[in-house]
Amino acid sequence: MADIQKILILGGGYGGVWAGKILEKHFRKNPNVQITIVDKKPFHTLMTELHEVAGWRTEPESVQVSFKKIFGAKRIDVVLDEIQTVDFKAKHAVGKARTYDFDYIVVGAGAEPEYFNIPGVKENSFSLWSFDDAMKLRHHVEDIFSRAAEELDPIVRKRMLTFVVAGAGFTGIELIGELLEYRDTMCRKHFISRDETRVINIEALPSILPILEEPLRVKAERYLQKSGCEIMLNASITGAESGKVLLKDGTVVETETFVWTCGVKGSSFAAGLELTKGERGRGRLQVDAEMKSVDYPYAYIVGDNSFFLENGKPVPQIVEGAHQTAEVAAKNIIASIEGASDRHAFKSDFHGFMVSIGGRYGVANAGGMKTQGFMAMAMKHLINMYYLFNIAGINQVWEYVKHEFLDIQNRRSFIGGFATWKVRGYWPLLLRMWLGLVWVMEGVNKIGEGWFAWDAGSKSGWMFSPGVQQAGIKAAEAVSAASATGDWAAAAPDAAATVATTAVAGAAEAVSAASDAAGTAAATVVDTTTRAFAKVWDLTKPIFDPNGGISTWFRKTFMDGIFAYLPYQGFQTMIVVMELAIGLALFGGFFTWWAAVASIGMCLVFTLSGMFAWDQLWFVFAAILMLGGAGRSFGMDYWSVPFFKRWWNGTKFARKWHFYADDPTK
Ligand SMILES: Cc1cc2nc3c(=O)[nH]c(=O)nc-3n(C[C@H](O)[C@H](O)[C@H](O)COP(=O)(O)OP(=O)(O)OC[C@H]3O[C@@H](n4cnc5c(N)ncnc54)[C@H](O)[C@@H]3O)c2cc1C
Repeated sequence: MADIQKILILGGGYGGVWAGKILEKHFRKNPNVQITIVDKKPFHTLMTELHEVAGWRTEPESVQVSFKKIFGAKRIDVVLDEIQTVDFKAKHAVGKARTYDFDYIVVGAGAEPEYFNIPGVKENSFSLWSFDDAMKLRHHVEDIFSRAAEELDPIVRKRMLTFVVAGAGFTGIELIGELLEYRDTMCRKHFISRDETRVINIEALPSILPILEEPLRVKAERYLQKSGCEIMLNASITGAESGKVLLKDGTVVETETFVWTCGVKGSSFAAGLELTKGERGRGRLQVDAEMKSVDYPYAYIVGDNSFFLENGKPVPQIVEGAHQTAEVAAKNIIASIEGASDRHAFKSDFHGFMVSIGGRYGVANAGGMKTQGFMAMAMKHLINMYYLFNIAGINQVWEYVKHEFLDIQNRRSFIGGFATWKVRGYWPLLLRMWLGLVWVMEGVNKIGEGWFAWDAGSKSGWMFSPGVQQAGIKAAEAVSAASATGDWAAAAPDAAATVATTAVAGAAEAVSAASDAAGTAAATVVDTTTRAFAKVWDLTKPIFDPNGGISTWFRKTFMDGIFAYLPYQGFQTMIVVMELAIGLALFGGFFTWWAAVASIGMCLVFTLSGMFAWDQLWFVFAAILMLGGAGRSFGMDYWSVPFFKRWWNGTKFARKWHFYADDPTK
């Protein structure tokens, strides 16, 4: 047996996950390669959205993507463990739980805040460089507001209601944007006037967001100021004490919430490894262009941990940097294992920056476009969704849509709260049962009409039988008769007359009688104005005309095709059985989602076959409403959905293709 090659990925961040995906895809069918990814958290953290959790815009789950979701049924071991040290010579990594041997290692343990040895800052500030940091800040702000609401000492109260973010890079500005919105919510909740609060951004440089060009910076600054943010530029922080931020010019800002986002360095874990550090690299590890450590040819460093000068400039600690360094590392490991001579060298290809300032506004310089407001936010969301689709499929994109738009509170989205309001399951209950009942009646009626009396053939060429939708039949008959003589315009009023008569009569018998006397009734009921309109245009004709182009094409292409393989009797039985099954499922709230989809599908097929009328469209709209879990309120789905979800999420298919509902079970 060939030697097993072991690849150990240390850290499941942007770099580690990306490398894992590439390596797994390549070696999926090679049993001689084992890939293990170790992370101290059971989930991949979406670091770029941490500020949203810290500022209570989204829930904590929105930045946690479980590794089970990402790697599902893939051939890669995901291990929860914290690596303490790595012995590169002996080729093993020592974790809290066990030791991991490797032939190749990819180190991607991320970054930490840099405090530049400024006295008191580390001890007296919050940071935002991990999931735990975001949660700590989130709870602190809520807590301080609730305490401030009852504080009587005006000096203490003022200190409690002052929030300071140091640093105006993208982390600082994104955080302050969230805090401004969070502040408004908290003020309402705790009956505190907004005028009592101060949200301050302190920056040592002469402008905010130095990574962006002038016009965008100005727009961002204006938006912040309009939202009530005090921006202190050219203000260096020289120290911090409990409850105090000290500035170089002697100013002292009193606050109980001081967040430090001014600098970033490689994680102390990585800095503690016995590998060469980059000169002025702040704990980052020196790599060559192949992303190999300069010390060991089998040790690769990716993402925020790696230090590489490209054209004299260090590769920035950003997501694209993590992806691109990971890709180079993964490709070179593949080349080494396969003995290929073509090595890959790092060449950056960055697409720009997108900065959100709260949930409603942002600025971006990405993909060659400088945008702000709606466009910038749309772009940021699209890029996030694209990333999530790449790592965990459509399921994770749907989770994102839920967190960012459908479940968002306090209108903190760039589309406002339009998508947020929810209808409780009991409101559509009667509609669900009625929709189901109509399908059942329809199936039963078809049997009564003689659909199973094969000798007699079908009695109805229309979707719904007389008991359910008499008007449609008569309209169709009139239309089809008229089209046979080529006089659509003359027929339409007749059909309309019958529809009108039906609506008034309301009962099948009455409609039938009206139908017999259609010619006379039409003459009396339909006035000349209606005739004139009908001659001009029937807006529903292109879609609903049974002899129109669309339905003729559909019938010839698909229905005739079906009948070539399926006896007409079989088809009739299938339709009746489906109608009954859809009806019963909707009535009892059992597999409601699937029944609703089938209901919509049937209506679509009937429409395309020219057997549907515009006044039956409510079937489709009602079924759409049922898609949102209507069967779980007073329906069997209350018990069946969790059971089937558990089963489905454990299947290999769901795990392999990321088609699970919620989290994978295995
Ligand atoms: C608030 C914030 C906003 C940001 N916004 C943007 C942005 O808009 N655009 C952008 O491009 N970049 C942004 N960044 C930067 C970006 O998030 C990082 O560059 C990126 O996360 C680096 O990826 P990584 O794989 O190197 O590290 P990370 O993504 O940090 O992953 C490191 C992983 O290693 C694990 N780990 C660490 N130590 C150990 C150990 N000893 N044992 C086991 N596991 C370990 C951690 O749990 C973590 O999962 C932002 C960062 C922050 C904090």
